[in-house]
Amino acid sequence: MMENKKVIRHLDAPRTFGEWLHRYRFTIARRFVQFCILLAFIGTFRFGWKVLGHPILAGDLSSSRIFDTVPLADPFAALQRLVAQYWLSPESMIGAGIILAVYWVVSGRSFCSWVCPMNLVTDFAFWCRKKLGINTNVLSLSSGTRYVLLAIALILSIVTGTAAFEAISPQGILWREIVYGGFLGLLSAVFGIFALDLAVTKRGWCGHLCPLGAFWALWGKIGLTKVKFDNDTCTRCGDCIKVCPEPQVINFKKAAEVGMYASGECTNCGKCVSICPENSLNFGIRPIKDSKKTQ
Ligand code: SF4
Ligand code: SF4
Repeated sequence: MMENKKVIRHLDAPRTFGEWLHRYRFTIARRFVQFCILLAFIGTFRFGWKVLGHPILAGDLSSSRIFDTVPLADPFAALQRLVAQYWLSPESMIGAGIILAVYWVVSGRSFCSWVCPMNLVTDFAFWCRKKLGINTNVLSLSSGTRYVLLAIALILSIVTGTAAFEAISPQGILWREIVYGGFLGLLSAVFGIFALDLAVTKRGWCGHLCPLGAFWALWGKIGLTKVKFDNDTCTRCGDCIKVCPEPQVINFKKAAEVGMYASGECTNCGKCVSICPENSLNFGIRPIKDSKKTQ
């Protein structure tokens, strides 16, 4: 009997501006969202931007308010404060609840690729690695190291009575110095993480070490927005794995069973969707009853 083998194809490089826009549509959208959020914080803090007399977005990435009305709070920062001080203000609890609800819908690690300013630095470091032909990993790290650091951050918060990771968070430093101004912390945060990702370990910070990314990966396990996978059309060309910043989330056998890349560690960056020559991948919302299907 003849075996029905699928023909493996790959997408050509974009030839026109329209093709380029289409290929990089998710990257462009992610940069736009990251830029707009930073701009809203900067405009509100430095230039007093308001809508109908209400500041647009006041505060910082760990605690803020939209239009001086809707509280927002980073749930990981709130959790550290809770274990450190055994108390959270009602506003912080509501703010953290709102953010958790948003990232339940869009999946936890969408924060990493669509919001976090450090993503700009680590994606640039990865691009530089490719252009410079750097393939070495001086330090071999497991992607699970971040969960150990997450646990350490919580233990240190209990021991010290302060939100331990918030004090040293490179993305927090980067964000504060972009919005409030300053250079020393900005330089150390940016160049420290850039050097780590460029010369020490591929995708070192976001892919292996960041405890905030670990927190969102755990929350992302029950997230609703996922990359849907069509096993019938997939040829196993492997192009999605080559572009994925978290390639361990792509497991074809499991994806064929559950119809999606269900891992909480997927950042919903969309790179795999854009590169797939067979349109086997697309963003979709999984039914709530299926949200325990994780890799
Ligand atoms: S899902 Fe991945 S392996 Fe399958 S055809 Fe698309 S890019 Fe290739
Ligand atoms: S599976 Fe796709 S969307 Fe998820 S991190 Fe990898 S490339 Fe991005």
